[in-house]
Amino acid sequence: MSFRVRRKPYKACRKCRAIVDRSAEKCPYCGSTDLTDDWEGMIIVIDPENSAVAKLLGITKPGRYAIKVR
Ligand SMILES: [Zn+2]
Repeated sequence: MSFRVRRKPYKACRKCRAIVDRSAEKCPYCGSTDLTDDWEGMIIVIDPENSAVAKLLGITKPGRYAIKVR
């Protein structure tokens, strides 16, 4: 469910927690440019309607999300 590497291959959106490619300049989900390397734990949400974790994190769209974003 989560992983730790020294240099993360992805950044996370501070606004909606979506995981985006390092090269991305804005979040494809919400359009925010507030992206950060400072995140922990990735979850993949396939069916937000039926995912307790997705509900807990306020995720409404399928995708990859960071569990913690600073
Ligand atoms: Zn976003």
